Amino acid sequence: MTSRLPKLVAFDLDYTLWDLWIDTHITPPLKRDGKALNCVTDKYGDEIAFYRDVPEILHRLQSAGVVIAACSRTSAPTLARQALSLLLIPAPAGHKNEEPTTAIKFFSQQEIYHGSKIAHFKKLHQKTGLPYSEMLFFDDERRNKEVESLGG
Ligand SMILES: [Mg+2]
Repeated sequence: MTSRLPKLVAFDLDYTLWDLWIDTHITPPLKRDGKALNCVTDKYGDEIAFYRDVPEILHRLQSAGVVIAACSRTSAPTLARQALSLLLIPAPAGHKNEEPTTAIKFFSQQEIYHGSKIAHFKKLHQKTGLPYSEMLFFDDERRNKEVESLGG
């Protein structure tokens, strides 16, 4: 059996890529300490960081040519985008002397706004032309399973 990757992988943000709710746990303004890797702090010094394995997963998907999407129903979309713009992703394993990249550069598709994720995925389909059967979605909340109805 050969394994193959889907053409698009979409990630929810809160409790899928980082361990917080950006709209309730985080207070602007956000800042990064110089070139600190995978760490941004808010007004009160609370940290935003991706889960440990996320940077390497993003690198591997990107180098395999998979479209990476951020798909969040947060009510703080501007803050979420700021966090993605500030978070620095270290170079991939084995390339440690390369410059880090901001997280947002990995997400060529961003659907970040309040509402049902059915809308988010219809938009992804419209924008990329990819069939739902080529999309893989990671999300921590059961209610967002409703997007499965699109793939049928
Ligand atoms: Mg979530």
